[in-house]
Amino acid sequence: MANCTYSVPDLNASGDSLYGPRICDQAFIDWAWPTHGFNGSYWGDGWGFDDCCNNTKPLSRAFSGLWLLNYSADDYNNEDWNSDILHWGRRYVREQLHAINDLRAMCGDGSANATTFNAGCAHYRDTSHNACDDWQANCCDWIPCSWICGLITWICRAWVWITSSVCDLFVPGRVELYLPFFYTRDVVGRAATYVHESRHIGGKPHDANFPRGSAFGAGKSGADSSWDYQGAWMYDALYLWWFYAAGTRTTPALQQSAKQRGNMLIDNAFATHPGFTIT
Ligand SMILES: [Zn+2]
Repeated sequence: MANCTYSVPDLNASGDSLYGPRICDQAFIDWAWPTHGFNGSYWGDGWGFDDCCNNTKPLSRAFSGLWLLNYSADDYNNEDWNSDILHWGRRYVREQLHAINDLRAMCGDGSANATTFNAGCAHYRDTSHNACDDWQANCCDWIPCSWICGLITWICRAWVWITSSVCDLFVPGRVELYLPFFYTRDVVGRAATYVHESRHIGGKPHDANFPRGSAFGAGKSGADSSWDYQGAWMYDALYLWWFYAAGTRTTPALQQSAKQRGNMLIDNAFATHPGFTIT
């Protein structure tokens, strides 16, 4: 933090005056920290580890994004995949960030909110865990003996743990959050960034260059080819859209901000324009 320079924008406009007191809750912090793989080596020294209720510091602002992500659906305990991203977004982020298990705060160069590196082992871990779970769910259809199913599932999980740990030794993955994440994005923008990076962990890199006229820099890499690619920009914009349309426990101003940011992404982050806007 010593090398970073930043200023703290208006706390009401960013939503931090509303969400800051909400995350100042030991039970929430004790849950959110390990669940999302915060790496303690990167959150001290001015980043807020010793001052996590201070909503001008990065850690409080990171937690606020997670609070919004987790509690903005009216019935937030419903995280069914058949529901919408306002409901399952929190589960997706939780699973992906837990799989990569290394969330860092850094200065960055000001050009990006966040970057995901080497998501391969996390992607392997997540998909293999799901395969073990699927096996367990189907097992007793084939073998009328549940303890054998339990044993094989345990072996499956142990195998995934060992192989993914070895994978981590050679290509450790991580997610880095930069100053614009903490101080340019408002609370809903931070939540959408978690969704965005989680989609990268989930195996979708950007696959195109930004289009002509893009605010992200025409011709530069980092765009998604289309909405149908279902990449990180699509997840990002889709989350903002749902929050605008159906978010609760928030303010109309933050919902309007989500709409604005969502349309900005729709207009600038896809090589082929999706062909619609959030209205
Ligand atoms: Zn990205």
